[in-house]
Amino acid sequence: MRYVSTRDKNIWVDDAQGILQGISKEGGLFVPSSFPEIEDLGSLLDMTYGQVALYTLEKFFPGLGHENLVQAVNKAYDSKFSTEEIVAIKDVKGVSFLELYHGPTLAFKDMALSILPHLIGLAKNKLEIKEDIVILTATSGDTGKAALEGFANVEGIKIIVFYPEEGVSKIQKLQMTSQEGDNTLVLGIRGNFDHAQSGVKEIFNNKEFIEELEKNNYILSSANSINIGRLVPQIAYYLYTYIQMVKGEEIVLGDKINIVVPTGNFGNILAAYYGKVMGLPVNKLICGSNDNKVLTEFFNEGKYDINKDLILTSSPSMDILISSNLERLLFHINNGNHELVKEKMGDLRTKAYYEISDLKGEDFYANYANEEEVTKAIREMFKENYLMDSHTAVAYSVYKKYKEESKDTTKTVIVSTASPFKFGDKVASSIGIEIKDMDEFKILDEISYASNLKVPENIKALKEKEIRHKKIIGKEDMERSIREFLQVGEAND
Ligand SMILES: *Cc1c(COP(=O)(O)O)cnc(C)c1O
Repeated sequence: MRYVSTRDKNIWVDDAQGILQGISKEGGLFVPSSFPEIEDLGSLLDMTYGQVALYTLEKFFPGLGHENLVQAVNKAYDSKFSTEEIVAIKDVKGVSFLELYHGPTLAFKDMALSILPHLIGLAKNKLEIKEDIVILTATSGDTGKAALEGFANVEGIKIIVFYPEEGVSKIQKLQMTSQEGDNTLVLGIRGNFDHAQSGVKEIFNNKEFIEELEKNNYILSSANSINIGRLVPQIAYYLYTYIQMVKGEEIVLGDKINIVVPTGNFGNILAAYYGKVMGLPVNKLICGSNDNKVLTEFFNEGKYDINKDLILTSSPSMDILISSNLERLLFHINNGNHELVKEKMGDLRTKAYYEISDLKGEDFYANYANEEEVTKAIREMFKENYLMDSHTAVAYSVYKKYKEESKDTTKTVIVSTASPFKFGDKVASSIGIEIKDMDEFKILDEISYASNLKVPENIKALKEKEIRHKKIIGKEDMERSIREFLQVGEAND
C-alpha cells in the first residue's frame, strides 16, 4: 500500500518503508494515499482482540505479509497484558470506559508499542536492511517507557528516549530511568515536551548527520506517533470496542457512537477518525484537552496559536503545544491539499501561528478541562466506585460539557488512557488523601486501600530498581549524546 507525504503527495513510499523511515525527508508525515474500507463490520463480531488487530493491520500493511503479521500480533498481544481480552470496557453511569492501560507500562501507548518493534523488524527484513536501526523517541512520559519496554534487548535495534526533565510524573520518570537493556539510552532534557519533540524532528531533518550515521551502519527510525506504524494498530481498539458494544446489546450494528479521547499529540483520536473514515459508525469525535488548550481553540476558532507558555498540568502526557498528528487531519479534511498543509506548517514554524478559514471540522467537538475540573471529575467518579487517572478525567469532564451543550444521547465511549497508579499525587489528593510529605509508594498504597484496587505489580517493582539513566542534557546536546552512545564521529569535541 502507498503512503504519501502530507507536504508533498508526489513523494510516496510503500508500507515497509513508511514504517521504517517514520517521517518523510521534507518533514511531512506519511498518510495512506487512500483509505481501506470495512466491508462488513458484522464479520468482526466473533473476533478476539488479536484477530481484530490482524484485520486492521492487513488492510494497511499488506506488504508485510499475512503470516508475518499473524506472528507479530501473537507476540504483541499476549500475557504481558494483565487482562486476557487485552482491553477492558467498564460501564459506569451509562457511559463505557475503554481501558487501554492493561499493558506492561500501564498506559495506552502499550497498545501500539508492543507491536511496533515487530512491524519495524518485518519492514527491515522486507527491505533487506543490514544496518542497525536506531529508534529516536521524544516522550511526554508514557511513550518513552512503552517504547523502551518494546525495544529493550531486541537485536539489531537501539533505542534512545528523550523526556522533559520537569514534565513527567514521578512514576513515569522512575519507569524510564530504571530501564534495563544494553541497547537503551534514556536522557532527561532541560525543557518541556515540545523542546524534546522538536529536537528529535531536527535530527530527522539533519541530512549530514543522517548520512554520517548511515556510513556507520545506523538507520534512524521513530517510535513516536508520527510513525504510521504507531497509528494503525490504534485503530483496532475502536473497531473491537464497537463490536463489544453490539454484543453487549448496548447498540445494534450500524448505530453510531461518540468517542471521547484525552488528547495531546492527536494520535489516539486520529486513529478513531481513521476508523470512521473506514466506515465505523461514529457520530462525534470528542477531543479533550487540559489547560494547554490549543486544540480546543483550533476546532472552535479556526486558529492554531502556540505563542504561549506550555503549562505543566496533572495530565503531563497531554502537556503539548505542537500536536504533530493534526497535520495529518489537515491533509485529509482538505482533500489532500498538500500545498495548504505545507504553507500552514511553515507558518507554524516561523510565526508560531496559523489560521484556517474554512475548517471542515464537523466530525469533532473540542473542549478542555482545568485542574479544578479534573479534581472534581476524579472525585465524582470515585463516589461511583470508579477510579480514573488525571488524563481520563480530562476526557470525562469534557464529555460532561459536550452533553450539557448538545443534549446528545448517543452511546458514548470514553477512552481511559492510563492507570490511576501512574499519577498518584493527583488521584490521591482528588479523593481526599492527605499526601503532604508522603513518599510516592506510600501514596499508592493509600490509593489502593481507599479504592480496593491493587497497585500494579510493574509499579510496585519500581521501588527496588536501580536507577541506570541519570543524565540530564540541554536540547543542543542531543546530537552529541547520540554520537556518544553510538560511538560515531567526534563525540567528545
Ligand atoms: C500519550 C497520552 C495521551 C495523549 O495521546 P495522544 O495520542 O498524544 O493524543 C493521553 N493520555 C495518556 C495517559 C497518554 O500517555
